Amino acid sequence: MLGVRVIHRMLGLERTVVEAAEIAADEAGEYLAVAVRPRKKAARRCGRCQTRAPWYNNGGGRRWWRGLDLGTLRVWLHSDAPRVNCPVHGPTVAAMPRARHGSRFTTAFEDTTAWLAAHASASAVAELLRTTWRAVSGIITRVVADRAGALDRLAGLTRIGIDEIAYRKGHRYLVVVVDHDSGRIVWSGEGRRKQTVEAFFAALGPQRAAALTHVSADGADWIGDVVAECAPQAVRCLDAFHAVGWVTDALDEVRRHVWNQLRGGKGRSTTESKAFKGARWALWKNPDRLNPQQKATLASIQATNRPLYRAYLLKEQFRELIQIKGDDGRLLLAAWLRWAGRSKIPAIVKVAKKIRRHPAELHNTLDSGPSNVQRPRRSHRHPPPRPDPTRLRLRQPERAHRHRRPHPRRPLPTPARPLTTHRHPRKQQESPKWLAQHAQLRRFAA
Ligand SMILES: [Zn+2]
Repeated sequence: MLGVRVIHRMLGLERTVVEAAEIAADEAGEYLAVAVRPRKKAARRCGRCQTRAPWYNNGGGRRWWRGLDLGTLRVWLHSDAPRVNCPVHGPTVAAMPRARHGSRFTTAFEDTTAWLAAHASASAVAELLRTTWRAVSGIITRVVADRAGALDRLAGLTRIGIDEIAYRKGHRYLVVVVDHDSGRIVWSGEGRRKQTVEAFFAALGPQRAAALTHVSADGADWIGDVVAECAPQAVRCLDAFHAVGWVTDALDEVRRHVWNQLRGGKGRSTTESKAFKGARWALWKNPDRLNPQQKATLASIQATNRPLYRAYLLKEQFRELIQIKGDDGRLLLAAWLRWAGRSKIPAIVKVAKKIRRHPAELHNTLDSGPSNVQRPRRSHRHPPPRPDPTRLRLRQPERAHRHRRPHPRRPLPTPARPLTTHRHPRKQQESPKWLAQHAQLRRFAA
């Protein structure tokens, strides 16, 4: 029989005393039962807030926690779980070192499960760890809540974007704050009023607001005024994505006008209007992503409809110039505004006026501004994932993507552990092929 000190080292139990260990058995086979208790300093603490609290009662008696397997042996820890009377939380089960409050698994088991679940299906993880997929989903919920609470999303912000988004078909609004450096949403609040933005700055606090260097927004006064008041040092930028959106909307207005003219009235259609139908996407997409048919549509617009094509060129030029930084960008913008102003296309003239209303913000954008939506250079490729402390991910060696001729499949490895009978309920009626494969796997495992 192994000594308790060896068990203690093998299980990596911190702030815990191992009282005894024995091999026991249940219907699933043998397991190692380890009796533990918290060290004196870790005992009698509230399970929710970890503060010391007086003893309340014995609670529900002895509790069991599943630990990480030792080799092929399942590990169960068991300990008394008295309740303490926390001044904040009232009578609560005392904290158990190395286990989350309310969990029947050790923290090490839960972290391993969550880490694996990030790379495999919950049912596969359940099978490997000899538990149920329900337990896996409960563990994921707890680990995510734990990590989210430990992480201050508002820490270290310098370049942010404040944006409004509509949901429920535009009946409700959210203000979302994006961290341009990590690309993550760090805050959101309901509404689209001054008070919503003020609530964000209240959560941020004056010290962290003073550390902001750039704030991009869509040019709305209710955002700009609050930013000017709470973070006066931050450079305010007009979000390039929104500015391009305004010009694209203007182009769409011109297109709809032309289409209605071709139809000769609402609800009717003519050969010309039918041919014009694909124009929306041809005009909307970036030129380098057009398919041959869309290119043809664009060419026919150029030949037959000068104002619409001019509006298209204006949109494309605006999209290009907004990416050019510094003085060149400023010069191009001034030229663009002049061109748009005398384009004689009402929608474009209107949008040029709108852009002129935000000269400082747009110049800031051209100088240094981040965009609320940053597209990778090569849009057909996914950008590499940003480091994110909230996410559990496994580093994998980069490998060239092969379309054909993959490496020959290696024979299935023999699973190190016997497979369990726990299975995802959906998987119960699997195809005969799947069942045959699994029968084979079970034979490997036996
Ligand atoms: Zn408490």
